[in-house]
Amino acid sequence: MNITFQVRGLSKGLSPSPFVYRILGKYGLTTILLRYLSGASFPSSKCWKKTVKTAIYEHEHFELKNRLIIDMSLGQFAAVHSEYVPCYLWQFSRLYRDQTKYCYTVINLVSKLFSHTYVIACTKCEINTDSIAVHNVMFCTYSSNIRHYMWCNLHKSLGSAAYDSLCHMCPRDQLIELITAFPSLNLTDKERVHSFKTAIRFLYYICR
Ligand SMILES: [Zn+2]
Repeated sequence: MNITFQVRGLSKGLSPSPFVYRILGKYGLTTILLRYLSGASFPSSKCWKKTVKTAIYEHEHFELKNRLIIDMSLGQFAAVHSEYVPCYLWQFSRLYRDQTKYCYTVINLVSKLFSHTYVIACTKCEINTDSIAVHNVMFCTYSSNIRHYMWCNLHKSLGSAAYDSLCHMCPRDQLIELITAFPSLNLTDKERVHSFKTAIRFLYYICR
């Protein structure tokens, strides 16, 4: 770790560089450096690493939360990554190990959904689109059969009322519901898990 490496240099008689001050200041760790310089009392390696890890987590967590509040263009991103924690798909794959391969594929879909907007030709149907993720799942003629079965199965697992609510959303919002376990729909836990498993299984076949 850069901070550990730089600060260890102090114990070898090296002078603290502006880089050390700058990076420790960024993560609120300068008091430790000052304590070391005044009393030569530096935390153990294990304690230091834990302190650095905690400080970086708190700093990045605060920065992300702040950015999600201020930047309105990140509204949809916040629906998927609302916390500085692993994406819900990673957590789901840990809870249900048999779903891991589906979750991995859907993670790729998430990255495409939130990438920069640019026009690209679909490699399967050759139609130009400015959102390849939405096109692949919602519109690509190459996947029309699988898509048909996905919606039929989701109608069964969600129930008519929730399915109707889903159909009233725009395609992009529908896709976000599919990859985030339907947070806007009123479902029991059992219905949500079953429907999410259905969604990511079909998304896997559509996107692989
Ligand atoms: Zn296509």
